[in-house]
Amino acid sequence: MSLPAFKLLRPRTVADAIEFLAKYSRDEVQDKERQSPGHLRIIAGGTDLIPSMRQRLFEPQCVLDIRHIAELKGIEPQQDCGISIGALTTLSAVEHSTVLQERFSVLSAAAATVASPVIRNMATIGGNICLDTRCLWYNQSLTWRKACGYCIKKDGDLCHVAPGGTKCWAAFSGDTPPALLCLSAEIEIAGPSGLRRMPLSDFYTGLGDSYRVLKSNELLTRIFLPAESAGYRGVYRKLRIRGSIDYPLAEVAAALKRENGHEKEGRVAITAVNPSPMLVKGAAQMLQGKRIDEVLASAIGDLAAKTAKPLTTSALTPEYRREMIRVFTRRALLDATKN
Ligand SMILES: Cc1cc2nc3c(=O)[nH]c(=O)nc-3n(C[C@H](O)[C@H](O)[C@H](O)COP(=O)(O)OP(=O)(O)OC[C@H]3O[C@@H](n4cnc5c(N)ncnc54)[C@H](O)[C@@H]3O)c2cc1C
Ligand code: SF4
Repeated sequence: MSLPAFKLLRPRTVADAIEFLAKYSRDEVQDKERQSPGHLRIIAGGTDLIPSMRQRLFEPQCVLDIRHIAELKGIEPQQDCGISIGALTTLSAVEHSTVLQERFSVLSAAAATVASPVIRNMATIGGNICLDTRCLWYNQSLTWRKACGYCIKKDGDLCHVAPGGTKCWAAFSGDTPPALLCLSAEIEIAGPSGLRRMPLSDFYTGLGDSYRVLKSNELLTRIFLPAESAGYRGVYRKLRIRGSIDYPLAEVAAALKRENGHEKEGRVAITAVNPSPMLVKGAAQMLQGKRIDEVLASAIGDLAAKTAKPLTTSALTPEYRREMIRVFTRRALLDATKN
């Protein structure tokens, strides 16, 4: 499938990128023609965007190629002993970074499971955080979608997954966000009025068709890992059809910090079973000050399974994916105690 025609914009700095966004994104321009939805798309590694454009999921008139913005690349220690990761840092760099492997191991482990080594050499952590949600009814060719009828996500009024509902349930399938949520990561966003910083947990909306709070004239620039999150023992578990290359179908990240043989703190997050990656609410309280055994790990597994709302947006049945969230959570917590 060929790509639709588009105008390519190539900024060299964040300031240039913001200027392009201000000029061409749909919120900012007066020109009627430019106000059509999906007028501009940002491309980083392009590993998700290009296949989607080939499928005509969107046909932007402009593509903002941010790959040449040097200031958005790299992993840098901060004065407060935290870490800053540029949005354009590749997933290979995150996977192989010694400092991340030693201090924030759950993130390197999660990055190492994305797609395949070749894709991870191009794919960026910013693109993984901003990844479009996926659905079996939506991620299809134009001909296929036309034959089945457009759904809510593509300006239609029906949902094949939850008929009668008004919400899109397309699943968020990025691998690194649950690990980042366990590490209390914050993100920096650049826009016409400067930089703003927010917890990653506030970035996602829980709606499949408008899954993130990024405005059309904004750009994700950096990810911050706080010093307090260093040294967690982390475990990552992923369900996919082909072990060598595939999006997740159910996934759990667990991170624990121990003191005197008990868990001082612990967090569990899930992805690929809801329109957003999510921290499992209540897990941190259940883990605090406890020694993890089968009973506690199973109870938190039950909680994670209740948090998961898998539907028929993805391959494998919702029942099986929910059950694997339960099983992976239990196993991840027990494995994390051995690290
Ligand atoms: C065969 C295959 C298997 C895959 N398997 C997995 C998998 O197992 N796990 C997984 O998580 N992903 C998987 N992916 C998807 C993809 O490779 C990764 O999610 C990757 O991290 C996306 O990063 P990218 O830089 O290529 O993003 P792009 O494709 O360039 O962009 C993705 C989205 O993010 C937006 N975007 C990118 N950077 C920014 C920014 N800085 N600010 C604002 N918006 C931005 C783009 O506009 C676009 O909407 C797979 C893809 C393929 C083709
Ligand atoms: S969940 Fe429903 S509305 Fe959303 S993409 Fe799938 S079929 Fe369309």
